Amino acid sequence: SNTKGKKKEVKKETGLGLSVKKDDNFGEWYSEVVVNGEMIEYYDISGCYILRPWAMSIWEILQTFFDAEIKKMKIKNCYFPLFVSPGVLQKEKDHIEGFAPEVAWVTKSGESELEVPIAIRPTSETVMYPYFSKWIRGHRDLPLRLNQWCNVVRWEFSNPTPFIRSREFLWQEGHTAFATKEEADTEVLEILELYRRIYEEFLAVPVIKGKKSEHEKFAGGLYTTTVEAFIPNTGRGIQGATSHCLGQNFAKMFEINFENDKGEKAMVWQNSWAYTTRTIGVMIMVHGDDKGLVLPPKIASIQVIIIPVPYKDANTQGIFDACAATVKTLNEAGIRAEVDSRDNYSPGWKYSNWEMKGVPLRIEIGPKDLANNQVRAVRRDNSAKIDIPMANLVEQVNDLLNNIQRSLFEVAKQKRDACIQTVNTWEEFAEALSQNKMILAPWCDEEEVEKDVKARTKGEIGAAKSLCSPFDQPELPEGTLCFASGKPARKWTYWGRSY
Ligand code: AMP
Repeated sequence: SNTKGKKKEVKKETGLGLSVKKDDNFGEWYSEVVVNGEMIEYYDISGCYILRPWAMSIWEILQTFFDAEIKKMKIKNCYFPLFVSPGVLQKEKDHIEGFAPEVAWVTKSGESELEVPIAIRPTSETVMYPYFSKWIRGHRDLPLRLNQWCNVVRWEFSNPTPFIRSREFLWQEGHTAFATKEEADTEVLEILELYRRIYEEFLAVPVIKGKKSEHEKFAGGLYTTTVEAFIPNTGRGIQGATSHCLGQNFAKMFEINFENDKGEKAMVWQNSWAYTTRTIGVMIMVHGDDKGLVLPPKIASIQVIIIPVPYKDANTQGIFDACAATVKTLNEAGIRAEVDSRDNYSPGWKYSNWEMKGVPLRIEIGPKDLANNQVRAVRRDNSAKIDIPMANLVEQVNDLLNNIQRSLFEVAKQKRDACIQTVNTWEEFAEALSQNKMILAPWCDEEEVEKDVKARTKGEIGAAKSLCSPFDQPELPEGTLCFASGKPARKWTYWGRSY
């Protein structure tokens, strides 16, 4: 009961619904903020979480954007089954080697053992490609560009974390086949750009576009491109989303052939690409604070919460009418606003509640505002208070929301940039790693050297690995040596601990 008393004391002292501060105990803070912010509920199977409406509405906004963009690219939605037969799953050797430890299997139906166990998809390359083989005959069947919105299951063993690393998650997976490598290469980057926009324009999270190392690339693929985010509080990188060129490996195994325009038999070039509910977790980790979630306006299902502040003998009805008029004006202008007219909570309680849920802007309407024909707006991100005359309502609220969106990105970028450290030698690297940096180092690009870096940095809080080689490469002066092997360096690569 002693600890309980202490917890309560902290709550009282900080005036929050969270019992820990983000900088004091990040892990505990994150677990509390996702639950108290009504994003998820823990479930009785480890690594599985209930996504509550507050989280699902964010997923839907990202989905609406991405779905419209891929439709412009003539990519079509479809749905393939959840189950995979073992024979098909194991067809591409490197692929199954990569995924085998995480595949969940169905072995029984009712009381009887299945003759052949059935796998649950960890990803759908092997589910789809036998049918690509059937559907693709000639060059006129190409390109074949499909996408599905679904769930997948990966029975992860390392630390499950809501959104970030769960055993079941929601995603879209795109699977495409082209006649030429050039077309496949182009699409890989077009999709990666959409992923950048999801993070930077919607979630206000800065990311670095780049290529994964051979060691970190998608199992069975040719090369993997990624948008990498960074969590300053833990000093860990995180793979934001990936767009893979699969080359012809799967085409070979699944015999996806076609007759080209010269009448010769050729093999297709394939891509696959995905982003998941992890996006939401990264956003929470980057923007959340000691009062709870902080949602960027573009993904908030409620952008403005209007709270009536009645006072003693003041004109209560007038205040409620002003709230109704305000929400109507904002909604008509396309702003997602709501009134919290619950009569069983005080205005102060409501302020804390919506701060916990991260609503970008609060509008308070009290007797003084009513008398002055204005409203008081309070920003969630920096607590700034602004009085807005009713006549300028839409214009100023729009300005504020745009400003909050931009400012969240800029603050996050400054914090991320402050964590980036460029090094040249192993000593500098080790020092930067001990300071939880995202480390940019010249590298020889050899797989054995990456394995060696992992081995040399192994410790309680996890080894360092390569995050990506940024597309935007700083100059690499002639004669620069690899930080880890001392061999000639071939590229600049980001390294660090990661999720
Ligand atoms: P992959 O098919 O392995 O390239 O995964 C696609 C994307 O899914 C990755 O880039 C990660 O951002 C995300 N991801 C991977 N594993 C998980 C997981 N266990 N939970 C949530 N997201 C994940």
